[in-house]
Amino acid sequence: TTRTEDLLALRRTEIPRGVSLAHPIVAAHAEGVRMWDIEGREYHDWIGGIGVLNVGHSHPAVVAAVQEQLAAFTHTAFQVTLYEPYLRLAQRLNARFPGSAPAKTLFLTTGAEATENAVKIARAYTNRPAVISFTHSFHGRTLLGMTMTGKKAYYAQNFGPFAPDVYHAPFPYEYRGTSVPAALEGLHELLRTTVDPSRVAAIILEPVLGEGGFLPAPPEFLRALRQLCDEHGIVFIADEIQSGVGRTGQFWAIEASGVQPDLLTFAKSIGGGLPISGVTGRADVMDAPAVGGLGGTYAGNPLACAAGLAVLDLFEDGTLLAHARHVGERLHAAFTALQAEVPGIGDVRGQGPMIAMEFVKDRGGREPDPELATRVVEEARARGLLLLKAGMYASVIRVLVPLTVSDDELDEGLERFAAAVRAA
Ligand code: PLP
Repeated sequence: TTRTEDLLALRRTEIPRGVSLAHPIVAAHAEGVRMWDIEGREYHDWIGGIGVLNVGHSHPAVVAAVQEQLAAFTHTAFQVTLYEPYLRLAQRLNARFPGSAPAKTLFLTTGAEATENAVKIARAYTNRPAVISFTHSFHGRTLLGMTMTGKKAYYAQNFGPFAPDVYHAPFPYEYRGTSVPAALEGLHELLRTTVDPSRVAAIILEPVLGEGGFLPAPPEFLRALRQLCDEHGIVFIADEIQSGVGRTGQFWAIEASGVQPDLLTFAKSIGGGLPISGVTGRADVMDAPAVGGLGGTYAGNPLACAAGLAVLDLFEDGTLLAHARHVGERLHAAFTALQAEVPGIGDVRGQGPMIAMEFVKDRGGREPDPELATRVVEEARARGLLLLKAGMYASVIRVLVPLTVSDDELDEGLERFAAAVRAA
């Protein structure tokens, strides 16, 4: 047997089956857009550790920043002593918060903790219990995160009882028959029949659905939500855990709409590969919880904060965001060309380089074809390209290519992609 086969066998005996696996390969080394497995095979990685590597694998600036911090100290806990990287990273993110209101930032470790803490802060600020999230949303695997996640049946299985006072409103998706007015009507009906707006602490929304298949929330929908939140004193939480840190060609996806959230959750690519998440938001809202109400032993780990500062440096002068938009245009052009050429490609959608392709059963049809999407993923791996489906939308392949990818590397990846689609 190969070492890969041995390690796959070890996974079966040692690791619970509830943890899924997209690719039966073992990572050995990675750099930029490239990854090598332990058999020496080279891949282009268009997954980036599920949206964590917007600046690519082992970016030299991130590695250097982490090494420097590693030589000083690795942990003190921010509730025990201050350390500068936490404060400086917060300061930089506050300056980047959409809108002009003074902002504050809390660091945590995982995305799920960020959404949980955003809700805690919103509840403390409003003194209200209820939360509204959207169908097809994903907000994490903790109890509240799972409850807020739109596709409960698929993700939660028999993990209940769930968190109380969480309600789901329809997310607009014209292609599948939910227009913006229809989605808003669904939300208003929820507020008329099921939960009074005076009981709602927060509305949480991904400006571009991540696991739900890269659906951008139309700007008019975001504006209507903003207005509704203003009318009823509801905290607007933008969950930018997957859509943030340049993924859409804006630093935050919601910036494209001009809508200002009250709180914004981030994770994934902010740490350039190290685990860090957090909530940035209006200072008056962020200050609502009392002393001791927020924190976590590992929250805002010094190594991760140092990595975060290096990532923000890379975005500082706008060159990387401009390149990200260029990458987005090239992906869009290549995908729509393929769509015209190959039967079985349905909707191509997204925002900038946060782009996805849906596979369907018939040319021009709309019946999802998850098996075809799976074949594309497998054909691509055989050609040295790692692809990932949307977590909750099995007929959709989403692209999370590093935004630092060069034109030549992107051409090479696109060739492998097109060959896989044609072969599937
Ligand atoms: N929110 C969004 C939008 C996400 O995409 C994810 C993860 O995919 C999460 C929350 C949960 O993050 P984590 O897996 O780090 O807990």
